[in-house]
Amino acid sequence: MQKITDIVSGKTQLHLASLDNKCLIHTEIMEPFNLLKAAAGKQGFDLRIASGFRSYERQLLIWNEKALGKREVLDYHGQSMDFHSLSEAQKVFAILRWSALPGCSRHHWGTDIDVWDAAAVPEKYQPQLITAEYDVGGPFYELSKWLRINSINFNFNTPYSVDNGGVAIEPWHLSYTPIAEKLENELNISYVEKIIDPNKLLFSSIVASNLEEIFLKFILNKKIKNQI
Ligand SMILES: [Zn+2]
Repeated sequence: MQKITDIVSGKTQLHLASLDNKCLIHTEIMEPFNLLKAAAGKQGFDLRIASGFRSYERQLLIWNEKALGKREVLDYHGQSMDFHSLSEAQKVFAILRWSALPGCSRHHWGTDIDVWDAAAVPEKYQPQLITAEYDVGGPFYELSKWLRINSINFNFNTPYSVDNGGVAIEPWHLSYTPIAEKLENELNISYVEKIIDPNKLLFSSIVASNLEEIFLKFILNKKIKNQI
């Protein structure tokens, strides 16, 4: 029997299935995703998943590579910046704008996917998952517009469609509401405290000393009162 906290933290894969041998998603979103894909197909979109399940270990690797400056960290607006000149606390918040804390990514659950439209781009195109692709004039603008209106009919939602000053807007990110909301309910401060591993996570002490702000703004993606 899988523990629900192991699913929330990306430490088990027993609930996952492979979609077209390309990515892993929750077995129970296979059918809803295929229904969404079929409906999108009727509008001329070729809905593909760029990223589905991501393990705790994978998220930890991404975090630590960013912390070390081995992987690019973009600024608040998605532009290149001089990461090395930041203080350690500034580095943590810069990483969190675009990458989840390991153990707290919605991609751990298998219920959340990043999608793009293969019909809108040349055959060998590699989606970058950047704002410009999904904004007006970008190749996936029409898809993101369609998803905003129609994904709800298939029980999907877009959890990163509003910028509350924490996680950046991610129009490509879809979440399967019926299962994701149950997993989201497992998230609380004491869960996050336990998931931080000081032996593995770089900047863990800074994360621990800013836990409440990080939890609200970057894990729940909520607006903090009195802050713009
Ligand atoms: Zn995503």
